[in-house]
Amino acid sequence: MSSETQRLRRSSGITGLCWLLLGLLALKCGAAETPRSHPNIVFVFSDDHSLQTIGAYGGRLSEFCRRQQVTPNIDRLAARGGLFVNSFCGNSLCSPSRATVLTGLHSHANGVMTLSKPIREGIWTFPTALREAGYQTAVIGKWHLDTTPANTDFWRLLDGQGTYWHPEFIGPAGREKHIGYASDIITDLSVDWLKHRDPAKPFMLMVYHKAPHRIWMPPPRYYHWLANVTIPEPDTLFDDYSGRASPAHNQKMEIGKIMNLTTDLKVVEPGKWGEEFNRMSDAERAEWSAAFAARNDAFRKAHLTGRELTRWKYQEYMKDYLRCIKGVDDSLGRLMEELKAEGLEKDTVVIYASDQGFYNGEHGWFDKRWIYEESIHMPLIVSWPGVVKPGTRFTPMVQNIDYASTFVEIAGGHTPDGLHGRSLVPILRGQTPTDWRHSVYYHYYDPDHGVPRHYGIRTERYTLVHFYVTDEWELYDLKKDPQQMRSVYSDPSYAATVDRLKAELNRLKTGFKDTSDQPQAVVH
Ligand code: CA
Repeated sequence: MSSETQRLRRSSGITGLCWLLLGLLALKCGAAETPRSHPNIVFVFSDDHSLQTIGAYGGRLSEFCRRQQVTPNIDRLAARGGLFVNSFCGNSLCSPSRATVLTGLHSHANGVMTLSKPIREGIWTFPTALREAGYQTAVIGKWHLDTTPANTDFWRLLDGQGTYWHPEFIGPAGREKHIGYASDIITDLSVDWLKHRDPAKPFMLMVYHKAPHRIWMPPPRYYHWLANVTIPEPDTLFDDYSGRASPAHNQKMEIGKIMNLTTDLKVVEPGKWGEEFNRMSDAERAEWSAAFAARNDAFRKAHLTGRELTRWKYQEYMKDYLRCIKGVDDSLGRLMEELKAEGLEKDTVVIYASDQGFYNGEHGWFDKRWIYEESIHMPLIVSWPGVVKPGTRFTPMVQNIDYASTFVEIAGGHTPDGLHGRSLVPILRGQTPTDWRHSVYYHYYDPDHGVPRHYGIRTERYTLVHFYVTDEWELYDLKKDPQQMRSVYSDPSYAATVDRLKAELNRLKTGFKDTSDQPQAVVH
């Protein structure tokens, strides 16, 4: 048992006894048949996992993923719980999304507008409310915020983006290096924490994966998996961006032009290894070489150019991306097995989500950032035995601002006034409030990949976006143009729609007190 766990046990004696008495009281009152009033929460949060690569979702590659068994455990979770089909982020980037999940606030209010902006000092985060509600909390994996977790009982964090191979974790006692593959180590630490937690108290365990983030290093057990399979190409792989404003033309996230052959696609020669390869042992590098040398030789001999080169890059990128996802899916499977082994399956809410969406070749792109569909969508799957009807597809518009309030309400705690999000618990119970939102607000700031700052709204039918640096607007009618190929902002037949959506955008922007687009707001 770690010293951190021992400290936890010592400090939790009195509260633990209270929980035991409450549990006995519940049993005596015949409440054993109903869901526990203070269920455990396991929140598995991956990095850059697109909705379209989850079998259960019904996205572009879902059928392929079901056939190839890419996400069997995630799909099983969706079958025993529910998934949110209209789930969005407010700023499609790693650190900003994590800060929003933690605070229940949009980026301009929590301070984390870009990868380099720190979280506002002293800001409320949801583990505080969980601790007040008697929960023990643990976070393990990619944290990617310039702070250590407040009011959290156990934490082991990857340093920044972390590494896939032999990662270093930061804990209260300093840095510690672990040997192995990141997704598996994060799972090992999580399972170990579950085994050694204080069994008398409810808990929230946050399992924060690095995978499947760029540079998509797969676990060795999947090096050969999908090798001879063709991944379906998107219709828009060779998009020319006509019908859209200047930002789509000027971005730097095209698979053809930007994705590199070295770290991204790993057409490397021995002796020219990149950082992740340098972390491997000689035997691990040899295993990688044995799996990919023939592929790389064939690629060099083929001298591909133009569309054929883009097609090859797309196939190989997607295979490594899906292999990383398969590793994350394994992790969820192991966590579910552990919950079952500990008899916690029925008393635990299990949530799977990822920090934003991701492009898998749609519009010729990888990466995220835009308010557009593949980027703004977040996978969100919730299993809550006895509460969520198995197989539910929730349609209300939800956002990452809602997570903090949801976790706190599940735990029976209290949130402070002024959060931007609302608890999803009524929706999970099948009782969507009549005043639930019909639009979500979005604001992106980071300068990378040539995507300019923009804000906008996504409603059930439309996406309205303002690229305010160049003062360009776009409007997409998702009913007629689900792939967002043509902006109808200047189409006279949409004039009334534009007016109505601009009023709604203003209502949200003013309501959230977002002035971060103003010239005096310094955003780096
Ligand atoms: Ca991310």
